Amino acid sequence: MVGRYPFDVVIVIGGGFAGVESAWALAERGVKVQLLEMRPVENTPAHTTTYLAELVCSNSLKSKLPTSPAGQLKGEMEALGSVVLSTAREHEVPAGEALGVDRNAFGEAITAKIANHPNIELVRAKADPKFIEEHLAAGNKVILATGPLTSPDVAEWLAQKTGRGHLYFYDAVSPTVDAATIDRSIAFSQSRYDKGGDDYLNCPFNKESYEAFVEALITAERAPFHAFEAGGKRDGDGQEAEAELLKKIKYFAGCTPIEVIADKGARSLAFGNFKPVGLTDPRTGRRPWAALQLRPENKEKSLFSLVACQTRLKWGEQKRVFRMVPGLENAEFVRFGVIHRNTYIEAPKVLSSNLELREIPGLFIAGQLTGVEGYVESAAMGILAGLEVFRALNGLEHVLAPRHCAYGSLMSHLMDDTPREFAPMNINWGLFPDPEGSSLKRDKDQRKAKKLEAAQVAFREWHAALAL
Ligand SMILES: Cc1cc2nc3c(=O)[nH]c(=O)nc-3n(C[C@H](O)[C@H](O)[C@H](O)COP(=O)(O)OP(=O)(O)OC[C@H]3O[C@@H](n4cnc5c(N)ncnc54)[C@H](O)[C@@H]3O)c2cc1C
Repeated sequence: MVGRYPFDVVIVIGGGFAGVESAWALAERGVKVQLLEMRPVENTPAHTTTYLAELVCSNSLKSKLPTSPAGQLKGEMEALGSVVLSTAREHEVPAGEALGVDRNAFGEAITAKIANHPNIELVRAKADPKFIEEHLAAGNKVILATGPLTSPDVAEWLAQKTGRGHLYFYDAVSPTVDAATIDRSIAFSQSRYDKGGDDYLNCPFNKESYEAFVEALITAERAPFHAFEAGGKRDGDGQEAEAELLKKIKYFAGCTPIEVIADKGARSLAFGNFKPVGLTDPRTGRRPWAALQLRPENKEKSLFSLVACQTRLKWGEQKRVFRMVPGLENAEFVRFGVIHRNTYIEAPKVLSSNLELREIPGLFIAGQLTGVEGYVESAAMGILAGLEVFRALNGLEHVLAPRHCAYGSLMSHLMDDTPREFAPMNINWGLFPDPEGSSLKRDKDQRKAKKLEAAQVAFREWHAALAL
């Protein structure tokens, strides 16, 4: 590989899952890195240790089955030299099909690997906007990997720089389903009053199915609130936090959870989120009692989100309740609804496919900030940001991950400019493009096997093209 040492330092901000991977990817290729982590000088409301790549909640790095979407992503990350995964394997604990880790041993080990790397200078300090601007002005590449709980000053700066409206402070997400699992003999495609094409699918309720759905929705179990998400103390939760959080979410995201709307009265959804005006059910020739609309989440229409169904129900409950919607009885959920504190950019509007901000040359974004979700996906986007900076420093051409592999699928989520409520996404089958052939669309297992086969071929080609 050309030119190993001619550069000044690369600045990586945030020593979470993405930041350690970016730093590692660069340092292992001979580039000097300064990695800034603000803990323990300043803490986030969710982190509790001084470890880099802290697992703030579960100790699971998802499925390690090579035939699962998360397994395929792991295989690709390992081929690219993931330090998170190699350390996780060294400190694995039994967790069935999942890659579970001993959280303290993992934290200690990964912190030591980074701190002891001869090309990495680990600095325990908070980066502020002035620091970032000075390094950019000096011509240094900066990778921003400050995660879902980015310090408020940097988040505010990023919001200003990317243009208001392109940085989110909260997730308020509706569930998304795999298009192939929607019953098209019930759900029909039509826009209201036939205006605007037939992009939307409509799940028609009659009076009985609507009332049963509303009853299940308002009595379903809701996820607990964390006070810190509403700006309160770290550990408390409860009604006050709930009210405060909902106020903030309404302010930032302009939405109310569907169950809260349903609480207001039996017909509130039929007159609001599920109003059936301008729709005609082809099976009856009449307007349905109410209709839940589904909107495509990508150009290929392999994913559909449930319009105006932002929810804080527990995930198991979402599956149970939304499967009561006519047409969604067998739907596979690839993303559940969430409403929580998060920070991420509107990638399709502001990010280039090499993870550099279009309006701020030299500033690369990594991890959850890009619009992916989860430890593994964030780490994956950390490796990629490191590799992109390395290529940029060496004057090497940007080689976009092909659409069919796991990296290409995540990138497609970040780059797809289909009008939608852009929200962070885990790796899932729905992100991988459908195989050719309509018969394959009907057989779930065959479809997945074909997707996997295509992913492996595509990744091998990309890996070869990267010439690492
Ligand atoms: C409460 C909560 C629970 C979660 N549970 C799970 C789960 O069970 N499973 C799962 O897969 N994912 C979970 N996630 C998501 C997961 O934490 C993220 O996907 C992942 O950590 C994101 O990686 P990252 O590197 O982008 O950010 P992080 O891992 O959060 O790392 C960002 C780092 O940047 C530092 N930082 C922030 N601002 C600055 C600054 N200005 N200067 C210097 N350093 C800074 C922070 O201290 C932090 O160490 C959870 C998230 C939260 C908030």
